[in-house]
Amino acid sequence: MSHPCHGLTGGIGSGKSTAAQLFADLGARIVDTDLISHELTAPGGAAMSALREHFGADYVNAQGGLERAKMRTLVFCNAAAKQRLEAILHPLIYRQARERAEAATDASYTLVVVPLLFESGRYHDWLHRVIVLDCPEEEQVERTRQRSGLGEAQVRAIMAQQIDRTHRIELADDILHNDGSLEDLRRQVDALHKRLMML
Ligand code: ADP
Repeated sequence: MSHPCHGLTGGIGSGKSTAAQLFADLGARIVDTDLISHELTAPGGAAMSALREHFGADYVNAQGGLERAKMRTLVFCNAAAKQRLEAILHPLIYRQARERAEAATDASYTLVVVPLLFESGRYHDWLHRVIVLDCPEEEQVERTRQRSGLGEAQVRAIMAQQIDRTHRIELADDILHNDGSLEDLRRQVDALHKRLMML
């Protein structure tokens, strides 16, 4: 069998990066689609010419990268713009993620971290198992507020654009319950890692 690739997803602030680091500590290879998205929209990034063409030079900074704050504001209240941005970025992110994951033969398996995995509808055919970080909404809000400095209303507005908790759980192959301490999460990651190694 080729190198197994699994997905790791969850809502904002659910603990994806934290869990990914725990898996990495155990030897899993991590491909982070947020990082890929940043690279594609950095100066000289592969998405920049299409973004400039569609959104205009106002959305490109002096270095040639994306004006992130401006774009965030635009897509937050403009569904058509959001769709256009995603139509440009998501296929590029997917392709990059797949290339990087499949080139990674130095670990027993690869975890591809994708915040909008179910929403994008793109990863299901490829990834072997999908691991979901599940976390009570109150915790999600609190953790995101503390980390990002966003207000509660902003965090809830972002959550409202993501698949809801019940559906996410229904679509999961494996669930990590991140409603306790970090030690508690680590124990679950250890156990799941052992199972993934035996596949
Ligand atoms: P995501 O990547 O899903 O947005 P993060 O892994 O960045 O979420 O976690 C959000 C914040 O919550 C981070 O500051 C992280 O350190 C913290 N955090 C995550 N899990 C726990 C936990 N079990 N206990 C305490 N803090 C946590």
